[in-house]
Amino acid sequence: MKVGVIAVQGAFREHIRVLRELGADAVEVRRANELDGAEAVVIPGGESTAIGKLMRQYDLINPIKQLAHAGLPVFGTCAGMIVLANRIVGEESTHLGLMNVEVNRNSFGRQKDSFEADLDVPVLGADPYPAVFIRAPHIQSVGADVEVLATYEDRIVAVRQDNLLATSFHPELTGDLRLHAYFLGLAARS
Ligand code: GLN
Repeated sequence: MKVGVIAVQGAFREHIRVLRELGADAVEVRRANELDGAEAVVIPGGESTAIGKLMRQYDLINPIKQLAHAGLPVFGTCAGMIVLANRIVGEESTHLGLMNVEVNRNSFGRQKDSFEADLDVPVLGADPYPAVFIRAPHIQSVGADVEVLATYEDRIVAVRQDNLLATSFHPELTGDLRLHAYFLGLAARS
């Protein structure tokens, strides 16, 4: 299965490594034609302002919106989650604006700049999921069509809305492949 990983900035190499480990044909995407034939798209963590700006410059915004509206699964992690959101606290504009969630970019404060926490993620089974948070956003509110997959200290940190998946944390930085496997499962079904 071809999976396009948006490779304009941030942790795209790590996503590609995990996806390939799971047997997917993961490719770097910087131009719209590199999405041809893709059955899923990943938007990595990094800096959402930079990723959004570069995606606009490279004319990736509308093609990805169209693919997502057609049912193609899209997975946004950390900054990628911010890029997917249709509301960003304190900001006037959004990037893809696809997901019915309101994200807050400054959630965990300086003393918690980065940390690891074991999360209960029922869709991944009973074993706790080791989540790495790096200057992580959280989801402040969700629409009725959004399923909450995980919380950390009462904050929503993983969600799914039909074909769209988003996490506050970085699943590509741990050895636990279950979240990527879950995402590829969504893609296989679509
Ligand atoms: N704080 C970053 C942002 O607002 C996201 C951090 C990350 O992706 N690790 O874009």
